[in-house]
Amino acid sequence: MHNLIRWNYSLQPHNTFGLHAFARAFAYARSIDELQMLLSVQAPKFATTKILGGGSNIVLTGDLDALVIKIALQGITVLEESATTLDIEIAAGEEWDTIVRYAVQRNWGGIENLSCIPGTVGAAPVQNIGAYGVELCEYVRTVKCIARSTGEIFELSNAECLFGYRDSIFKHALREEAIITSLVLRLRKNPQLGDLRLHYGTVEQELHSLFPHVSRNSYTIRHVREAVSSIRRSKLPDPTTVGNAGSFFKNPDIPLEHYRLLQARYPEIPGFILSGTRVKVPAAWMIEQCGWKGKRLHAHSDAAVHDRQSLVLVNYGRAHGKEIVELSQQIQQSVRERFGIDLVPEVNIW
Ligand code: FAD
Ligand code: NAP
Repeated sequence: MHNLIRWNYSLQPHNTFGLHAFARAFAYARSIDELQMLLSVQAPKFATTKILGGGSNIVLTGDLDALVIKIALQGITVLEESATTLDIEIAAGEEWDTIVRYAVQRNWGGIENLSCIPGTVGAAPVQNIGAYGVELCEYVRTVKCIARSTGEIFELSNAECLFGYRDSIFKHALREEAIITSLVLRLRKNPQLGDLRLHYGTVEQELHSLFPHVSRNSYTIRHVREAVSSIRRSKLPDPTTVGNAGSFFKNPDIPLEHYRLLQARYPEIPGFILSGTRVKVPAAWMIEQCGWKGKRLHAHSDAAVHDRQSLVLVNYGRAHGKEIVELSQQIQQSVRERFGIDLVPEVNIW
């Protein structure tokens, strides 16, 4: 067990921002036994234990005097099938997009709009990943976890996960307690046209431009995966080239009355009515209005706002995590002063 631990270990290859930081100790958990052993034998020796997936939703602000456990549990099992659905259990260390590809290749529908989201399966419920009109929670049956304090295995139903917009119980009551080891997803066998989600943004437009000879009635989940992947490639910086963690802030939802007041001052403000009383306002639009699009923290800093998508903060090479956080705070202040809205980071600051 002892040789599982790596000391003073660089986390730079383990975070998509590409930030430099060292962990005092680092270990892979490749099996439940290894994870339980790390929790019971090694974790008590450290002030803090951090759980790491693909590092695509974290900002490292300095070296960590901690044990970092990288979840590397692997495996996909089909649990049960009906005429129309099937339940699969996926281990937390699997790469999320590998699972989407695997499902699409087998014509198992549901998660195709969540194509190309970096990171692991185990982190996906933490912020209830979502994109192009679909959220993970629509397909989750159960989430299996290990309790950090006792090493015991427990299972949560979908309802018990308290999923919300980029939110779940794993960000609140179970934040320091649950380590997700696997999920059970219920997917649809042989999805029909009516099952596809094409209404969001430019998905349908992209389908038409990629597949001009395919009629709308013949679209499949393979087409949807292609379209979503293509839009994402054109809009989002690739973390292997430019360090980033996707959207830095959540898109805020505000009371309708507040939105109406803003509309009177900024008639072009976009908004999506969520219910009779709340409106979601794209954070990227507000950040752009405040003049941040493409801007660096200062002339010599590599911490910047991406020039095509202002919701994405980037590291052009040598930025420090603290500079990324400072930039995010300056953006929050501008948006608060101009629109009276508090932007909440979606990214986890370590
Ligand atoms: P990490 O960054 O490693 O961890 C994130 C958090 O989850 C940490 O707090 C960590 O402690 C915790 N965690 C990780 N694994 C576990 C576990 N097994 N048990 C308990 N806690 C755990 N997100 C979206 O929702 N939609 C998108 O469309 C999207 N697009 C993105 C595009 C780009 C280019 C990038 C870089 C990111 C994007 N993201 C998106 C954000 C990110 O990909 C997701 O949040 C993803 O689920 C993070 O997975 P990870 O394994 O990298 O998590
Ligand atoms: P976009 O399509 O330009 O949309 C911008 C904003 O408008 C988002 O707030 C989005 O909400 C909202 N929106 C657009 N169409 C909508 C509709 N029909 N109904 C309700 N809300 C709508 O956004 P984008 O930046 O290119 O991203 C596309 C999708 O990928 C979005 O779903 C986004 O959340 C997701 N994404 C997430 C991350 C991340 O790191 N979290 C990174 C990249 C992309 P939603 O955000 O709620 O969809």
